Amino acid sequence: MAITDSYNRKIDYLRISVTDRCNMRCAYCMPLEGIKLIPHHEVLHYGEIREIVKAGALLGIKSIRLTGGEPTIRRDLSRFISMLKEVEGIEEVTLTTNALLLSKLAQEFKDAGLDRVNISLDSLKPERFSEITRGGDLKAVLEGIQAALDADLSPVKLNVVVIPGFNDDEIEDMAALSIERPLHVRYIEFMPIGDQRLHKEKKYIKTAELVERLKKKFEISVANKGAGMGPASSYRIKGAKGTIGFISSISEHFCSTCNRLRLSSDGWLRSCLFNENLAVDMKTPLRNGASLDDLKELFMKAAGIKPVGHELDTRGSLDFKRTMSQIGG
Ligand code: SAM
Ligand code: SF4
Repeated sequence: MAITDSYNRKIDYLRISVTDRCNMRCAYCMPLEGIKLIPHHEVLHYGEIREIVKAGALLGIKSIRLTGGEPTIRRDLSRFISMLKEVEGIEEVTLTTNALLLSKLAQEFKDAGLDRVNISLDSLKPERFSEITRGGDLKAVLEGIQAALDADLSPVKLNVVVIPGFNDDEIEDMAALSIERPLHVRYIEFMPIGDQRLHKEKKYIKTAELVERLKKKFEISVANKGAGMGPASSYRIKGAKGTIGFISSISEHFCSTCNRLRLSSDGWLRSCLFNENLAVDMKTPLRNGASLDDLKELFMKAAGIKPVGHELDTRGSLDFKRTMSQIGG
């Protein structure tokens, strides 16, 4: 059985935010003030999330990505990874992390069954990195990246949010990371979620412009669209072990092939990253004794309200109340 939405898109991918808390505070993701944390009693337990995943798997969900907030700060994440890997129908469990704690955890995650990781990295300059993440330690993150390679959590992808006038002077240095090691660098367009003020001030750089700039420095060609490359179009610098890719969420959005739903840590099943209202409450029914069949119904409901596209470029006002750390980016 497979869920298809009203526009005939097959839904087989679920992103799960296991916490809205974080051990960094990236400027583009969490504003300095005004973030209201979800009270602990409202956060789904691992057992509750597994019930939701079981229902999803019965409907064709095959791939799970754990995210947050910072997923690695939630206690016993390895145990949860193995719980998910045991759910029939789940073929892949992956993780998006800031890698601050990864050097110690990578092998444990691998042993628990984690398939691969995406790591956020927005600067290679220690001071700038600390500024953008408000205190993050670049050295620890670089060690985390190496640990992910050593533990074979591959392909290891590096997510770079490009912010004009802030880190766009580093796009070439970031691309060079893909040459010696099998690292897959992906540039993400800065989206108007999180710090709206910063986004209004800085805007974003379109993928086409980034590609032109990189072509001036490197000989690049289109890489094969390997398994698990996701919505990023990918290129390879001549002779490089890894690739470079672009997630053009705004300028060339991939809504027409969107295959995902998102579960927030407080149990809202969201049909679109960009629309807060198109979500279904899973927690209340679950805590009132919902059966697997009931949860399946709720999955179908979430798929049924999935919009055709985010229409960010045409929507007049954007007023997101939740940040990426709260939704689960
Ligand atoms: N803490 C983990 C991390 O940083 O990788 C996982 C959660 S974080 C919310 C997931 C991804 O969302 C990160 O790659 C981050 O760079 C991205 N992100 C957060 N806010 C964003 C924004 N306004 N525009 C584009 N990407 C954003
Ligand atoms: Fe934390 Fe990730 Fe958001 Fe940075 S992007 S503040 S690491 S959740």
